[in-house]
Amino acid sequence: MPEDDNFRYETCAYPSEDLDTNEVLIKTCYLSIDPASRCQMNEDTGVLYLQPWKIGETIVGLSGVGVVVKSAHPDYNAGDVMYSFLKWPWILYFTRKITDGTGFRKIDLATFGGKMSMVLHLGVGLTAMIGIQQKGHVTPGANQTCVVSGAAGACGSIAGQVALLEGCKNLVGICGSQEKCDWLVTALPFNGAINYKKDNVDQKLAELCPAGIDVYFDNVGGDISDSVIKQMNKNSHVVLCGQISQYNKDVPYPPPLTDSIQQKVNENNITRERFLVLNYTSEFDHATWQLLQWIHRGEVKIRETVTEGLGNAGRALVSLMRGGNMGKQLVHVSDP
Ligand code: NDP
Repeated sequence: MPEDDNFRYETCAYPSEDLDTNEVLIKTCYLSIDPASRCQMNEDTGVLYLQPWKIGETIVGLSGVGVVVKSAHPDYNAGDVMYSFLKWPWILYFTRKITDGTGFRKIDLATFGGKMSMVLHLGVGLTAMIGIQQKGHVTPGANQTCVVSGAAGACGSIAGQVALLEGCKNLVGICGSQEKCDWLVTALPFNGAINYKKDNVDQKLAELCPAGIDVYFDNVGGDISDSVIKQMNKNSHVVLCGQISQYNKDVPYPPPLTDSIQQKVNENNITRERFLVLNYTSEFDHATWQLLQWIHRGEVKIRETVTEGLGNAGRALVSLMRGGNMGKQLVHVSDP
């Protein structure tokens, strides 16, 4: 489990404003805090697209949003809003050469209702939406039951809402507190919620999913997922999105299932393919448009937990790994 003292906050020099061609000086406004960063705290992250953090060096996290302060790039001007899906450093000011493949791009903030933090819901929003659409096999009119673990988190809360919009009839969320359960069934359209820290998960699943489970959006893995898979129907589908319950352990990704659960998967012909949103970049433009439509119309509700100050970014990750967030965990670093 990561701890607050794994992180150190330092004052450093303001970068040189003497910019190279195509270089821009960026000021960070918000950072996205993601479970995958726990894997960046290992020497080997287990995946090629994530670099391990080096002790004593500035952390390079996942997405962030900020503004251009000064530009030596013909297509970028001071005041432009910048976004990167991967590789945003946890620092107030930094310079970047903007070339193909850096991942940094300009964002039209009006598309996001003028709200900077909204941009950082894109990563999890697209993951939830494309995950359900590509791996969930939701069939409108088929009366399907969808279960989501990590349901009160950023990805899970959106995945459940998308499953209903795509045609599921019964939606059940699993999460780690009563407050989170209440949010799912009052503010969000979940039909039922299970607190895995207090409830008997097997029993509650049987009560809330009397016709079995057809779609399982799995954010957590481990015992919770074993309980869900045991109650999945024939020819049902797991969206293997993440396995946060295993991220503090030294196991490969995705961790292997126990023999009895694997047998259940085989007997019931359950699909359980690894899902990685980065494999669907060609869908991003359309999916972004669709997601923003749903959010603007209030059909998908989002929530954020905002930690104040760059110096608390490490604490925000520690808190997320302990379930301290509801919806998307962000750090507010500065205003434009
Ligand atoms: P969340 O907002 O869901 O935050 C993480 C949540 O996980 C915590 O709030 C906590 O909630 C829960 N959690 C922590 N430890 C455990 C545990 N041991 N058992 C069960 N739940 C636990 O994060 P994200 O929405 O950003 O990410 C959700 C999942 O999606 C992660 O597994 C992540 O790796 C994955 N992901 C996958 C992507 C892909 O392309 N496949 C892309 C982006 C994310 P609680 O109080 O309920 O315990």
